[in-house]
Amino acid sequence: MAGQLLISWAVTVAAVYGLLLATYVATCLAVTRLNRHIAVAKIQARQTPPALIRRDRRQSALSLLAIAAMFGTGHWLYAEFGWGWKPVGRFPGGMLAFVGSLVLFDTWFYWFHRLIHTPLFYARVHRWHHLTVTPVVWSNNSDRLIDNLFLQSYWLVAHFLIPAAPAVLLLHKLYDQVTGVIGHSGWEHGGIWCWPPSPLVGVTHHDQHHRFFRCNYATHFTLWDRLMGTLHPEHDAELKRNIRATAALR
Ligand SMILES: [Zn+2]
Ligand SMILES: [Zn+2]
Repeated sequence: MAGQLLISWAVTVAAVYGLLLATYVATCLAVTRLNRHIAVAKIQARQTPPALIRRDRRQSALSLLAIAAMFGTGHWLYAEFGWGWKPVGRFPGGMLAFVGSLVLFDTWFYWFHRLIHTPLFYARVHRWHHLTVTPVVWSNNSDRLIDNLFLQSYWLVAHFLIPAAPAVLLLHKLYDQVTGVIGHSGWEHGGIWCWPPSPLVGVTHHDQHHRFFRCNYATHFTLWDRLMGTLHPEHDAELKRNIRATAALR
């Protein structure tokens, strides 16, 4: 029995890892290709050192394993032991659960991200990710293990926080993976979807976080940053400029 449980846990984690790694690599390659057509609209003039890109690629492969272990364990506990809330119905419950999970994770991410920017945690937890000032697609998951424990442990406990079906949480994680890679790409791909007052973040949001460091802590929406006064004062103006610059080349 214990052996069977261990096998089902390992299979679950391996399947999630395979899916996340494939999504990471496919999105990185696809966005890199898209960037070639809009080369002159690059947000930062600075180039990222190749050694740093290799570091980010290697570390992302490791970090994704840690995320898969957390997501997989959360799913396994739910599937094997029924731990967590019973999901709400498919429609419109599934849609509501998806949006609810986006808002909840964004809240989780915003506050833990602010916490690991404090002097008590920064050097030991989060500095690694910020050594890349001009992020590239491959930088998305380049974090220390302990950084993942702060920002990504949502996936371990999500079934206890929100009555979402496993497919809804997986869809959200894949959305997070794809938008995270795009958010580090160095070119504004957000387009009209992110035009203020849209609450969705564009690439400019997290690019400014890497450049200016003490602003723009959220991951899906600009809401918490606006509410708490941590949005970069030039965010909206620069976002509009970057969207226009990309649109002019398409
Ligand atoms: Zn940060
Ligand atoms: Zn980043």
